[in-house]
Order: sequence, then C-alpha cells, then structure tokens
Amino acid sequence: TEELLRKTEKLAVVGQLAAGIAHEIRNPLTTLKGFLTLLKSQTTDKDGWYLDVMLTEIEQMEWIANQFLTVAKPQIVKFERRKLGDVVQQVASFLYPLATMHNVQILIASESEDRFIECDENQLKQVFINVVKNAIEAMPHGGQIDIMIKYNKDSVAVRVKDQGYGIPQDRIAHLGEPFFSLKEKGTGLGLMVCYKIIKEHHGTIHIESEVGRGTTVEINLPFK
Ligand code: ADP
Ligand code: MG
Repeated sequence: TEELLRKTEKLAVVGQLAAGIAHEIRNPLTTLKGFLTLLKSQTTDKDGWYLDVMLTEIEQMEWIANQFLTVAKPQIVKFERRKLGDVVQQVASFLYPLATMHNVQILIASESEDRFIECDENQLKQVFINVVKNAIEAMPHGGQIDIMIKYNKDSVAVRVKDQGYGIPQDRIAHLGEPFFSLKEKGTGLGLMVCYKIIKEHHGTIHIESEVGRGTTVEINLPFK
C-alpha cells in the first residue's frame, strides 16, 4: 500500500503539470504539422525526405502529449459493453506490422466463452497497445508473445507473456511511475497510462518477470 500511495501521489503531481504542458504544446504542434504538410506539397520529391522526418518527429511529440493528457485530464470515459476477445484481437491486428518487422509472433488463446465487459474501448485498446508494444520491444531478436484470456466467475484476466530480456526485481515496483524507463528512447509513460486506465475500470495490473526469460503482464477486469 505504501508503494501504491507513492505512485498515486506522483501521478497526481504529474497530472497537474501535464494538463497544462500537454495542452499548450499540442496546439503549436498542430500548426507546425499543417505548415509542414503544405510545404511538402510544394517541394520536389528529392527534397521532401527531411520534411517527412520532421513530420514523424512531430507525430512522436503529439503522441507523448496525448499520453499526458490521458493521465492528466479527467477523460470522458464512455463505458460500453464489449467483448474483450474482440478488443484484444483488434489490438493484435493493429500491431501486426510492427511485430512482423521485429520478427515477433503474436498468438492469442482465448477460452471459447467470450463474455461482455463494460469498458471504454479506445482506452482499453491503448492499454493493450502499450503492453504489447513493450513486449515487442523487449525482444530485439524476435520471439513470441502469448496472449491468454481467462474467464473467472467475476472477472476476466488477460495475460501478455513475452520471451524478452525481462525486468530486474528491484525495478518492478517502480513500473508505472512517470518517466521510469530503462530504454534509451523510452518515455516511461506507457505503463503509467495503463495503470490509470485500468484503475478507472476497477481492474488491476500485475507484472511478473525474470531477467533473461521474459515478462508476464496480467490485467484483471471485473465483469461489473
Ligand atoms: P517505455 O516503454 O517508454 O520505456 P513504459 O512505461 O512502457 O515506458 O515501460 C517502462 C519500463 O518498464 C520500460 O522502460 C522497461 O524497462 C520496462 N518494461 C515494461 N514492459 C516490459 C517488458 N515486457 N519487458 C521488459 N521490460 C519491460
Ligand atoms: Mg512502453
């Protein structure tokens, strides 16, 4: 619980900061993107590549700002009845190109039963995108990601298991803290967003890992 309190407190502080910054940054980014696109349409193909690079970088900034806003702003959460299997399947399809590029195979095993849960589909997708992306990034030489969906009496568990480099034990407690990243180009925002969204769904996230063997992220969501 002490751990949890520390996380919650940090989240609150970050939330206030982020609300302001992310919002202020998003608008100029939109303007920049607009003019770059215009410029690109007037530029010859040969010179266009650096504009593409700039556009990609701006999109990365937008992504970061959006992740912040997800945490900061009380989102308009729209809970709807969805089949979790469908949501997971759609995320897997969405990430298929990225996975293939990294020689990673995503396998989904679901019990035939596919009950409905109440969720904000887009936010829940964001959670699985962030988790599966981490799994892909943890396997620089490729491998397999097993997604298992298990239905219990009152809840459903989704387990995302990779064969990646794993997380040192002493780091696991810090996962989900803002800016906690062990990656050179990481933001440390992905899991923070996951924790926030799953909390809003009254669910839990549990992470187990063994260095050199892999990581399992288990997300539990109650049916009601
Ligand atoms: P980022 O991916 O930008 O670094 P995240 O919040 O998504 O930020 O993850 C935080 C950190 O948690 C990562 O930098 C990584 O060290 C660790 N991590 C998360 N998921 C995994 C995983 N499946 N395998 C190994 N490490 C992981
Ligand atoms: Mg990540």
